[in-house]
Amino acid sequence: MNEESTERDRTGSEKDGGLFNAVCRQFDKAADLMDLDPDTRKILAATMNEVTIHFPVKMDDGRIEIFSGYRVQHNDVLGPFKGGLRYHPLVSPDEVRALAAWMTWKSAIVDIPFGGAKGGIQFDPNGYSASEIERITRRFTFALGNTIGPEYDIPAPDVNTNAQIMAWMMDTYLATVPAHQRSANVHVVTGKPVGSGGSLGRDKATGQGVVYMIEEWAKDNSFDLGRATFTLQGFGNVGSWAARLLKPFGSTMVAVEDVSGCIVNEDGIDPDELLEHVNTRGGVAGFPKARPADCDTFVCTPADIFIPAALESQITAETAPHMRVRLVAEGANGPTDPDGDAILRERGIDVIPDILCNAGGVIVSYFEWLQNKRSEFWDLEEIDEKLSRRMRDAYSRVCDTAKDCRTDWRTAAYIVALRRLARAYKDRGIFP
Ligand code: GLU
Repeated sequence: MNEESTERDRTGSEKDGGLFNAVCRQFDKAADLMDLDPDTRKILAATMNEVTIHFPVKMDDGRIEIFSGYRVQHNDVLGPFKGGLRYHPLVSPDEVRALAAWMTWKSAIVDIPFGGAKGGIQFDPNGYSASEIERITRRFTFALGNTIGPEYDIPAPDVNTNAQIMAWMMDTYLATVPAHQRSANVHVVTGKPVGSGGSLGRDKATGQGVVYMIEEWAKDNSFDLGRATFTLQGFGNVGSWAARLLKPFGSTMVAVEDVSGCIVNEDGIDPDELLEHVNTRGGVAGFPKARPADCDTFVCTPADIFIPAALESQITAETAPHMRVRLVAEGANGPTDPDGDAILRERGIDVIPDILCNAGGVIVSYFEWLQNKRSEFWDLEEIDEKLSRRMRDAYSRVCDTAKDCRTDWRTAAYIVALRRLARAYKDRGIFP
């Protein structure tokens, strides 16, 4: 199962000067409100390193195809660069830049010693065989060379990438280091298969974190999750885990959208049955226990909670006015563009922002990285307990900051992150 699933084409922010521009707008709002030191502001408004690689790969039929891959390192003042690698036809330098910055804020909010990075290869893996995807992955990893490293920049799964792809990346990277140093370098990627140095609980981590955040919101609002309804966009790793983990609370999933189409059933769609269907059919379309619907119907479907768990810029000036929910719990990165965000705020719809809500993945990546470094293997109970504590603590910090600064949750989340980053720059100063 891939880390996240894909969704309909992005629109909103692209019209407004790109996704990184959207990040800058969110950042500026928080920086103004907290009066961020102007020098720190300049540093954080730019990425540190950007690598673009065009590389050839031999296809199964002997042809050569050229691929474009990117790795953007936004900031490493709090620790090594960290962030996923996605395979998608819409991957672009602008998108990867935005996603890298979000990783910096995310790690800072949940207080893990990582910076932010992101990477991607611009292609649709659905059109390629497993052995072609393996060669694409290995060739890109080789070309990245020392751009990645276990104490420098640590990739992980993201949209359309998974534990298998991480195993290929690790194996390729390790082939380039001296034999006696290999076992000391397996933490060069996280999200690996459990049998190859991966962590228990990494697979479900992002979805699990989303559910912890929804639980906290429900507590704050004296809301009974046992009678909650929710709609879900994306049924990849994040969405399918969030849906399955909400089931024991008694919450009812009433509509799901993915690249294959939309399905609706007010009486409930069972996430386990849907997963079986998606595993055989490749998408939610055609699920027999729900009726097909169009995208507009999906957006308008009333529910208590909407979980976007696909791509960026899905909640926009076009869709936000039609949404009939109380809470948006952002499982995806950047699902709400600045215009959509403003409309949600005006309409009184609560938002648990992406950089808090979906941080479970990178938190358990951190646990995997620590286990590898210490040659330890933690049990699932320990991982769940540690994940829960970190996410809930971060929730409280964001909640308190929103109250103290009288601002919305996204801005509050940025302020939590920026305070931590500003502190580090103040302590360290700038070389020379
Ligand atoms: N791709 C995930 C994210 O966007 C996980 C990143 C990681 O584990 O490094 O947060």
